[in-house]
Amino acid sequence: MSGLMQGKCGIVMGLANDKSIAWGIAEQLWKQGAQIALTYQGHSILKRVAPLARKLDVTVLESCDVTDQNSIDAAFDVVEQNMGKIDFLVHAIGFSDKNQLRGKYLQTTRDNFLMTMDVSCFSFTAVCKRAYSMMNPGSSALTLTYLGADKCVPNYNVMGVAKAALESSVRYLAADMGDRDIRVNALSAGPIRTLAASGIGDFRTMLQYNALSGALERNMTTNDVGKSAVYLLSDLSSGVSGQTLFVDGGNNIMAMPKLKNSKALADIFQNMTAKTPPQ
Ligand code: NAD
Repeated sequence: MSGLMQGKCGIVMGLANDKSIAWGIAEQLWKQGAQIALTYQGHSILKRVAPLARKLDVTVLESCDVTDQNSIDAAFDVVEQNMGKIDFLVHAIGFSDKNQLRGKYLQTTRDNFLMTMDVSCFSFTAVCKRAYSMMNPGSSALTLTYLGADKCVPNYNVMGVAKAALESSVRYLAADMGDRDIRVNALSAGPIRTLAASGIGDFRTMLQYNALSGALERNMTTNDVGKSAVYLLSDLSSGVSGQTLFVDGGNNIMAMPKLKNSKALADIFQNMTAKTPPQ
């Protein structure tokens, strides 16, 4: 299929480098004919993201720090001046103190809890609020979440709590924005090696476990996520709103890994146990 996003324009937020999920999504949208505005966190990474933006014929490349309302307004103002009304909004942003993405959730500090919730959860509400009046009827907003919202995943800790709140806010935003026929959904991606993911304690083990424990028995790529994003951002999903769609190779449906992989999984756990200091 091609041309699914032909004639549509919108914003992809959260590009850090070519490993970013934002990049995987932007690439797939571009392949389907979308016109894309990209935002990135701060001027220090402009050198890294500008060559990527050129590859996708991006005309609007704006810095946007989602903890700062003025920064959100300024970036969206520029998008509005250049694109007018938009058809999609992608929020691929999350952050927490990496020292608290290991060990016990019990040790989370108030400051980091609030900061994590602000960047990883509230910011989606903030950008939806700003975008609401500039989104065409039939348009679609999308954020990124992870299984750690529903179930305890070692080390994911406060990010899991923020993702649970994010998924809940997806449902409230879907109800609110649905009055203008705007859809709001989340993609729950399996673990992928990115800058943000590298802050999670023992992420390598998470990847190894995931590759052996899901229905598809492989890890996801940003292409896998990008293609599902096209579905949720295009008219193909015109009746879908308030949902969390898993793009995790069927990891979340397994109550127990396949037995044929038990030896390999046992080895992973043995290595992990040997490395993990007692808490
Ligand atoms: P990434 O590091 O490439 O992207 C995270 C982005 O968040 C970066 O571009 C960073 O600059 C941006 N960001 C952080 N604080 C910000 C702020 N204050 N203002 C603006 N931008 C800010 O990593 P990623 O894995 O592509 O993360 C994208 C999203 O996908 C995140 O929400 C993450 O939680 C989610 N996710 C990732 C995985 C994974 O395994 N990589 C799995 C499921 C969900």
